[in-house]
Amino acid sequence: MAGTPSVAADRVLLSIDGREVTAKPGTTILQAAQAAGIRIPHLCHEPRLKPSGACRLCLVEIQGQPGFHASCARPVERGMVVSTSSEPVRSLRKTVLEMLVSEHVMSCSTCDRDGECLLQDYAYEHGIDEKRFPSIAPAAAASGVPNYTSESLAISYDPSKCIRCQRCVRICEEVQGVEALTLTSRGGDVLVSTGFQRPLQETACEMCGQCIGTCPTAALHEKAARGKGKPKDLARVRTTCPYCGVGCQIELNVNRRVNRIVRVTGRIGSTPNNGLLCVKGRFGMDFVARADRLTTPLLRENGSFRKASWGEALEYTATRLREIRGESGADALAGLASAKTTNEDNYVMQKLVRAAFGTNNVDHCARLCHASTVAGLAMAFGSGAMTNSIADLRDAPVIFVIGSNTTECHPVIGTTIRQSVASGRTRLIVADPRRISLAGIAELHLRHRPGTDVALLNGMMHVILQEGLEDRQFIDTRTEGFEELRAAVEKCPPESAAAITGVPADDIRRAARLYASAESAAIVYSMGITQHTTGTDNVLSLANLAMVTGNVGRPCSGVDPLRGQNNVQGACDMGALPNVYSGYQRVDDRGVRGKFEAAWNVPLPDTPGLTVVEMMNAAEAGRIRAIYIMGENPVLSDPDIAHVRKALEAVDFLVVQDVFMSETAELADVVLPAFSFAEKDGTFTNTERRVQRVRRAVRPPGDARDDWRILCEVSTRMGYPMSYPDSAAIMEEISALTSIYGGIAHDRLDGTGIQWPCPTPTHPGTPILHRESFTRGRGRFHAVQFLPPRELPDEEYPLLLTTGRVLQHWHTGTMTRRCEVLNALVPGGTLELNPADAQALAVSSGETAVVRSRRGRIEIPVAVTERVDRGTVFLAFHFREHPANALTISALDPVAKIPEFKACAVRVEKREASRP
Ligand code: SF4
Repeated sequence: MAGTPSVAADRVLLSIDGREVTAKPGTTILQAAQAAGIRIPHLCHEPRLKPSGACRLCLVEIQGQPGFHASCARPVERGMVVSTSSEPVRSLRKTVLEMLVSEHVMSCSTCDRDGECLLQDYAYEHGIDEKRFPSIAPAAAASGVPNYTSESLAISYDPSKCIRCQRCVRICEEVQGVEALTLTSRGGDVLVSTGFQRPLQETACEMCGQCIGTCPTAALHEKAARGKGKPKDLARVRTTCPYCGVGCQIELNVNRRVNRIVRVTGRIGSTPNNGLLCVKGRFGMDFVARADRLTTPLLRENGSFRKASWGEALEYTATRLREIRGESGADALAGLASAKTTNEDNYVMQKLVRAAFGTNNVDHCARLCHASTVAGLAMAFGSGAMTNSIADLRDAPVIFVIGSNTTECHPVIGTTIRQSVASGRTRLIVADPRRISLAGIAELHLRHRPGTDVALLNGMMHVILQEGLEDRQFIDTRTEGFEELRAAVEKCPPESAAAITGVPADDIRRAARLYASAESAAIVYSMGITQHTTGTDNVLSLANLAMVTGNVGRPCSGVDPLRGQNNVQGACDMGALPNVYSGYQRVDDRGVRGKFEAAWNVPLPDTPGLTVVEMMNAAEAGRIRAIYIMGENPVLSDPDIAHVRKALEAVDFLVVQDVFMSETAELADVVLPAFSFAEKDGTFTNTERRVQRVRRAVRPPGDARDDWRILCEVSTRMGYPMSYPDSAAIMEEISALTSIYGGIAHDRLDGTGIQWPCPTPTHPGTPILHRESFTRGRGRFHAVQFLPPRELPDEEYPLLLTTGRVLQHWHTGTMTRRCEVLNALVPGGTLELNPADAQALAVSSGETAVVRSRRGRIEIPVAVTERVDRGTVFLAFHFREHPANALTISALDPVAKIPEFKACAVRVEKREASRP
């Protein structure tokens, strides 16, 4: 090592196999070797796990230190001389492998992982003798030891392939934070098990399949994928998960011969999920190949559907739209874009509505989830999006989760938060009316009444100002309107907030101190904040809290709205909103409009259009006569569905473009079959503003077509020609007209994607917004006062209903309820009822209740649970047989026009006792 060049003070210089290598202190020998391209075989270790040194395969020699050392667990030292493949090392490694093989049935020719198995690879490389040691491998039937994991719905465990490396046990505990697995028994009978006399689905297991993802052999595998194709038979297509806004990178393993997705894998090192998936991402893709996919255009004739050719369906659609526009004007037409389809589809949809229909009546389901985020954060910061990145949550000293059941609605972000808390780096505050999973690991759970967020936040800010915990310098140099905020929060001492929220005043004080005293604190929120008639006020309050403590524009701080659908951020970015073009450029700004008119070569309407709920009202009143819906299901997803159904039945012409015959499609005049995400090329934008690729993995069924191509055909037949050679060309047009996407192009997105704003082709993207100044210049405080939900419990309807999601299902269930594992795990909904309320109503778990509101009634089984507080009931909105939105109220937030899904008054009765 003498005479070597100088090494940076924060690096260690060592020698591995005769090569000089530098590494950061704390790096293991294995990591240093890998970084230098030197391969050391290992089985029990992977980068997401703490080193265990259990398999003894990664042993190395260190000069001057007797014996062999596990390189996965041994940190580098200055001047260390390491040998990874000396003769003694190779000989010992071979013996270790031969012992492992004696515990394993090497039936490679019939194994699902043949060609993708580390044990097989190492055995081959080392030329091991399979018979050197007598076999002690347990039989697949587990040599008499109960094998509870094998009874899992989704995960199959073959003990004869298990090498007891414990990666599955450790990933479940260390990464997923669940501890559903353990090792049982002794000696040759050691097995992976739940440790209980119960199958996995009856334990804390979330069926994420992280255990499968880390298994180095075929011991753990997707049950449904057994025998469906070896790795050599499967093409791996990297794409983006079609469910939630986390935007996990997934690999669809496709058997091209039969055009089927066989399994889904994650890739370690991928952004944002580092190979982790949730149960939907791993087991929720059966819907793509379902036999009931729409495969041909359908036209309604004499009350029922008949098949039609594309030519007939498109011509009829364009003709009817033209006729209605001719009779009643352009504003009698409307379009709903989709948070499930790609950016390119959404851009073309809003262009169709604006340029071909001639109206700004375009909206989508963002109105129903985060319209108040877009409005509120734009008012406070100038940009209505997540300020920081998901990765920041790994190191945030404090995370304040409010109105977000993160582990169920954004599971991989929930896992990230769990890991941060478990590591000791993060202190967690949870504010939620329900005892959600994260509340169990939080330092403080503020169980406030639904709809009292502003009072809670004003109470916290009152404490912060009273105790001098505010960031004066940030307030003075970066913000405006502080005195108005001070005046507003002065009126809300913690005792007043406690009376409104039900949270003890001391807990409000503790939360305020914890949040404000942290070096950095991140706010994570979701629809518990936004889906209120005070949704915009709630968002403004969170912006106030972040600004008053200087928690914006820095790493591990910020205000992070978790967007619901996979591409709801992108659909907003693309201008699928009634008041803005792509990039939030206002339609009523003459200069902006002129730019789009010149680019699209058509005069454009100058007044903002109608939002979703306004469209339904206008449809019922006869002012909207035709609606074109792409990939949305408002009959289940919108509030007060009896009203929505009436509105859609009232229009003269309804077009639905979708992958299945949804509840909304059943009402349509024309149904057009579209590609699913697995058949598309394009992009989604995840919740942290990361634009990521969607790639075609399978061939589409029947005559289904790409959404944007269908829209282009309709536009052209309406007299406004639109065509693109491919989706990359659409992105070229988007980037030319949209500064925040100015540097986005498909061929730049192959790595980790790019976070907007990305104004130029060489810009790397923006992980943190508002660093030097806010998008609007100075951050704006808003004086916000508490207002109660529009409909509160009374004598007739004495309980408060709040709605949300469950882990295993998604939105209106169109996709997840067609997936075998997901449907088996949660076949239907339940009404969560507090034990005290259940006792008063004389109803028990499993019995059926009738739930009524002023708008409708449903029947649903009851789950008695402490998760909800007394006086509050909870329903998930995925299930058509007991639709939550038959009950919800369509009262709107006055600014964002988002409905109040999270609070309305209901009455619950046991079914036998109910009135008809
Ligand atoms: Fe898909 Fe969201 Fe699950 Fe990730 S966390 S796998 S994006 S549903």
